[in-house]
Amino acid sequence: MNFSLTEEQEFFKKTVADAVDRIVTPRAREIDEKDEFPWEVWREFTRLGYIGLRYPEEIGGMNADKVMCMIFYEEIARGSVGFAQSIIMNILMGTYFIFRFGSDEIKKRCLYPAMRGEKIATMCFTEDQSGSDLGATRTRAVRDGDGWRINGTKMWITNGPICDFCTVLATLDPEKGLKGLNFFLIEKGTPGFSTGQIIDKLGCRGTVTGELVFDNVWVPYENFLGEELGKGVYYVGDILDEVRLMTGAMALGIARGAYAEALEFARKRIAFGQPIGNFQLIREKFAEMDTLMNAARLMVYYGAWLLEKGMESRVIAAQAKMYATEVCLKVVDELTRIYGANAFAYEYAPQRYFRDARFLLYGGGTHEVLRDFIGRTIIGRL
Ligand SMILES: Cc1cc2nc3c(=O)[nH]c(=O)nc-3n(C[C@H](O)[C@H](O)[C@H](O)COP(=O)(O)OP(=O)(O)OC[C@H]3O[C@@H](n4cnc5c(N)ncnc54)[C@H](O)[C@@H]3O)c2cc1C
Repeated sequence: MNFSLTEEQEFFKKTVADAVDRIVTPRAREIDEKDEFPWEVWREFTRLGYIGLRYPEEIGGMNADKVMCMIFYEEIARGSVGFAQSIIMNILMGTYFIFRFGSDEIKKRCLYPAMRGEKIATMCFTEDQSGSDLGATRTRAVRDGDGWRINGTKMWITNGPICDFCTVLATLDPEKGLKGLNFFLIEKGTPGFSTGQIIDKLGCRGTVTGELVFDNVWVPYENFLGEELGKGVYYVGDILDEVRLMTGAMALGIARGAYAEALEFARKRIAFGQPIGNFQLIREKFAEMDTLMNAARLMVYYGAWLLEKGMESRVIAAQAKMYATEVCLKVVDELTRIYGANAFAYEYAPQRYFRDARFLLYGGGTHEVLRDFIGRTIIGRL
């Protein structure tokens, strides 16, 4: 067994952390308060090439292994979750299906500019009446001449209102449930494609999230992203572990940021004539937070290592997402206790960590759905 990062991974971690602390962290508060897409931060940060993180060098990527990807997701979320969510969407879900199934022409038009930060990508699963239950998808695609006619509305779409293109989950036949699902590329400017409501969110602010409307949108046949019709849900399965581990890594990042705030405060806040960090009950909180974070880190990185080796990682990825998120929620909760009343003021950072952490509960599987999946996998069908 070897738990250490390679020299390359160590160097990568330091380089990413430095870039985050130089470009992102100092603007985290502003990103949250303004709740507008931070174009300036985007331009400055995407110049560094990280959007191509997981793609081959031949197409301008970094060919990073899965552990390196987790390092990146953790560090960027430590800086600002609002910014992290937008950039990770470009890195992972927003471009994955195009990288895997897009024609050369589509890659030139969408993937390569997105990897340079010149175009914004997104992924549309969720609808008003279908979140966890993808089989209830109502956005519909039908064959029409040399292409597809798509009708439907997607909700809660990260980068949606500012995206240049999106990968849209649609059904060919709602009666078929999961077996009717397929992915289609729809680009900005296509007649019938528009933005609806922009969601005013509790946390993860700065990333623009909203509704996308597809009203009789027509796209050519090649915009079908897949090899075989009806296999969309299998293709989701191929990226699911990475998405879940990524969410776990983001949870570690938020937890680390919150923990650092708590530590600094506990060392300098005086009560009863001494720093509150001297009190046993406060120390106990740090002992627990540190223990939980170490356990969560082991799970996330072990899952990434398994994934990189091509070994079975489905259960550990679900566990890592769920556990790291619960740990993160615990850490931000403790931060708001340690910080006293100031945690309740918008002036200070704890409330932002507290709001941001809750966002992790939903994407990559709610914890009820994940527990159900893990339990079913362990017990099997009786
Ligand atoms: C900030 C943010 C950004 C997002 N970005 C995107 C995006 O870019 N693209 C996108 O497609 N979606 C996005 N989402 C949506 C996200 O993927 C969904 O919230 C998620 O899939 C859960 O769906 P839901 O919210 O509709 O909840 P539901 O699935 O309706 O669940 C409601 C409740 O029922 C429970 N439940 C559901 N099924 C079961 C079951 N079988 N057993 C037990 N309990 C169950 C859930 O655990 C939950 O408690 C985003 C969400 C947020 C908050």
